[in-house]
Amino acid sequence: MSYVKGLRCRECGKAYAVAPRVVCDCLAPLEVVYDVEGWKKTLTRQKIESRAPNMWRYREMFPLDGEPVCSRWVGFTPLVEAPRLAEALGARKLWIKNDAVNSPTLSFKDRVVAVAINKAIEFGFKTVACASTGNLANSVAAHAAAAGLDAYVFIPEDLEEAKILGSAVYGAKLIKIRGNYDQVNRLCSQIANDYGWGFVNVNLRAFYGEGSKSLAYEVAEQLGWRLPPAIVVPMAGGSLITRVGKAFQEFIEIGLVQPAPFKLIGAQATGCSPITSAVKRGTPEYEPQKPSTIARSLAIGNPADGYYAARSIMTSGGAGEDVTDDEIVDGMKLLAETEGIFGETAAGVTIAVTRKLLQHGKISRDDETVLCVTGNGLKTLDALEGKLDLGVSIRPRIEEFEALVARAEQPAAANVG
Ligand SMILES: *Cc1c(COP(=O)(O)O)cnc(C)c1O
Ligand SMILES: [Zn+2]
Repeated sequence: MSYVKGLRCRECGKAYAVAPRVVCDCLAPLEVVYDVEGWKKTLTRQKIESRAPNMWRYREMFPLDGEPVCSRWVGFTPLVEAPRLAEALGARKLWIKNDAVNSPTLSFKDRVVAVAINKAIEFGFKTVACASTGNLANSVAAHAAAAGLDAYVFIPEDLEEAKILGSAVYGAKLIKIRGNYDQVNRLCSQIANDYGWGFVNVNLRAFYGEGSKSLAYEVAEQLGWRLPPAIVVPMAGGSLITRVGKAFQEFIEIGLVQPAPFKLIGAQATGCSPITSAVKRGTPEYEPQKPSTIARSLAIGNPADGYYAARSIMTSGGAGEDVTDDEIVDGMKLLAETEGIFGETAAGVTIAVTRKLLQHGKISRDDETVLCVTGNGLKTLDALEGKLDLGVSIRPRIEEFEALVARAEQPAAANVG
């Protein structure tokens, strides 16, 4: 059932057979080439709609040779209308694509890992590994456990506690590197070929990235088989936003949606903004940065797909913007208070960037805009330390409660007065 023709270099076009491989001989990344005519013949809206609500309802569009054998219940997360957030930000209509409740590890990374793990099994790997800013480590550890594979996860030593525990619990072997993500990634590139392991974002990267497309396919289907005029995507390595653009193009090409313009809006933290800085300078040539931000899941200073992400944004007529750590926390709180959705720091980045670009007129107030919430707030609790009213404690006595209510009502009563 495979619709894969092979691998191809994104720069020089050199063709490769389907195999685990880090980059082309020219050092540029590889991409999967598909039989688009085959897609056109097989895929219809009705066929897709008749399938179970998970990412594999689009299974022909991922680079597997056979049916997926594990990680079956991933994706098809809610696309929810966000009227109270829209009102707070002064937009006509906003939607939240809520991957904070993706199964099984509460981030969009389950999509990419679902493809990578199945591909690793097709290639015969017994051990999978990754270089991670946190969510990928959780996801690889969980999917590997369920598939009965060994997992090694390489992470920066200073990650959030929840993301460390949330990998260790699955029995994965943790390698904590005293350094930032870019140093972790460099080490992994050096060892990927020597151990016979499937590194999901190194020698399986061309396949892994394809899993991201499922988020965009779902958005288009959930909107009633049409493309949103704008979509805001948080960026780390730049893989997700690049694939969102690719997925929308594929849907147009196959004829599953009407051709329509869509703006890709890239969101980063000011403390790690190589891609949005490049977009603002009007070039896809980004300059690497040394990350310093509470949005650790996005803290990649030398993004592997940064060039392609910036180019996709620019050719779509979209925009890139970044926000400070304080704005990120405000964004997390605003999303929670208006829509009851607790996203992680990366979600705070998405919300705060949307607010800023609406103010600057770079997102139109009339454009229906989809905001990608890609991770769960329970994993980044430390970002909210000291930022919330955590209430008062009283003894279990009615007088104490009444005194508390009376005190709370005083200023309110004056206002009503
Ligand atoms: C990994 C990640 C992203 C985006 O990552 P890319 O490397 O740009 O594909 C966005 N949000 C969260 C929470 C992530 O963990
Ligand atoms: Zn090449």
